[in-house]
Amino acid sequence: ALYGTARENSLGLDLTDPQVLAPVAKRMDEVAATKWHGKPSVGGALKDGTAREVRDPADHSRVIGTVTDATPELATQALERATRAFPAWDATHAADRAALLERTADLYEQNMAELCAICVREAGKIMADAVAEVREAVDFLRYYAYRARIDFAGPEVMPGPTGERDEYWLAGRGTFLCISPWNFPLAIFTGQISAALAAGNCVLAKPAEQTPLVAARAVELMHEAGIPGDVLHLLPGDGAAIGGALIPDPRVSGVCFTGSVPTAHIINKALAEREGAIVPLIAETGGQNAMIVDSTALTEQVVVDLCQSAFQSAGQRCSAARVLFVQEDVAKRTLGMLAGAMKELKVGDPSDLSTDIGPVIDAEAKENLEAHIARMEKEAKLIARAPSTAQMEKGTFVAPVAFEIDSLDRLTQEVFGPVLHVVRYKAEKIDQVMDAINGTGYGLTMGLHTRIDTEVEWMRRRAGAGNLYVNRNMIGAVVGVQPFGGEGLSGTGPKAGGPRYLSRFACERVISINT
Ligand code: GLU
Repeated sequence: ALYGTARENSLGLDLTDPQVLAPVAKRMDEVAATKWHGKPSVGGALKDGTAREVRDPADHSRVIGTVTDATPELATQALERATRAFPAWDATHAADRAALLERTADLYEQNMAELCAICVREAGKIMADAVAEVREAVDFLRYYAYRARIDFAGPEVMPGPTGERDEYWLAGRGTFLCISPWNFPLAIFTGQISAALAAGNCVLAKPAEQTPLVAARAVELMHEAGIPGDVLHLLPGDGAAIGGALIPDPRVSGVCFTGSVPTAHIINKALAEREGAIVPLIAETGGQNAMIVDSTALTEQVVVDLCQSAFQSAGQRCSAARVLFVQEDVAKRTLGMLAGAMKELKVGDPSDLSTDIGPVIDAEAKENLEAHIARMEKEAKLIARAPSTAQMEKGTFVAPVAFEIDSLDRLTQEVFGPVLHVVRYKAEKIDQVMDAINGTGYGLTMGLHTRIDTEVEWMRRRAGAGNLYVNRNMIGAVVGVQPFGGEGLSGTGPKAGGPRYLSRFACERVISINT
């Protein structure tokens, strides 16, 4: 049952088929012309308060809506209500909880155009990424529903001694605080919530400050599907304010977090310092992800996979390739072809189907990236930079860029954007390359391009990363196919979209009855 096949992933949309695209594009235009409003949802009621503007990262003159942030008091009210709602939700049959998640998945698919439009406008996603975003969210809902029916089917009889009946089962833990990132504002937001709910927990959902609107629409659809308002609350707002109010409270039974390493450390410390129950932190953070290319690799394939891995989604994926290690005998050819490909990348308005690279999320992200690029311009050798376009003046854009550096030591932290670093290596130093990659302390994704089978086995044995990719790109893990998550600085390890994920949100229980 662990790897069952009785389910299918969402088909998404074929953007190359004009008959599929036309109605979606029309609906997207309609919804893009409206203003969205996001509000905290506590006990199923939307709460008013001071609203702030949300602007389009591709065009700062465009206000796409407003959001009302939750106050710490409101967050505490939500926790009180969730605490009261937990026993009944936990006692609900797993199949009934699963059905509500599946109903939500259907509603997401029915509202695909609108959800895509919000992802494009609010998060600067290019269309292809927006479609993939909704698909992944749908996949999480259906996958965790499917897993809940298996994992929470009820007590499993264990092989105990004669005269005793031993049973094992999983139960919900209580209320989970789910803190999600802006880079997958619908997919990871939905994935965290649906896993926690499937396992019988109530949820307080805290979306990223930059992307509250798609989160608000998602929660509306979840409630419309029948997930009770007291079971799922939405708390947009500042991470420190909302997290600061909730994490020290012993009624929070677990935290699921995707975001930066420093924030994961802050949450971990806050959980460690509080009185009361000791609870799990499920954290997925960043990576210093490397792709190794040896002299047997197919260069054309390497360049396609590298451009996708390093630059798609403007490099704003924790799985993205940050460093290319290329064997020196093929370096000139590989980097020459890479530079050529980068000159063809189109940076621009994400709603335009011909755009390859949209904006980065906000001014702070752009400033940090530009500061790093300025440092690289002094310390490293420029390989290529994608051409600038007029649209870039309007929003927070960073054109993809690649630099050659002499050693991985030049990179002290993750650079979260479309910047690729290249290091040449000599064939006989390949083990040192692996040591250097593992030595960063991160362990999320790693890529390898080779036509030597023993190299693949070498990577399997030596790589300290959660997701390994061979002769392909190293992004876009598919739910139920490539369970995703890292180790070390990259996270606490549970694999989202994997067969054991739900158990991390649950208590394991055993009863032994002398018969
Ligand atoms: N799951 C995504 C991927 O495989 C990355 C998730 C993230 O950036 O947090 O590309």
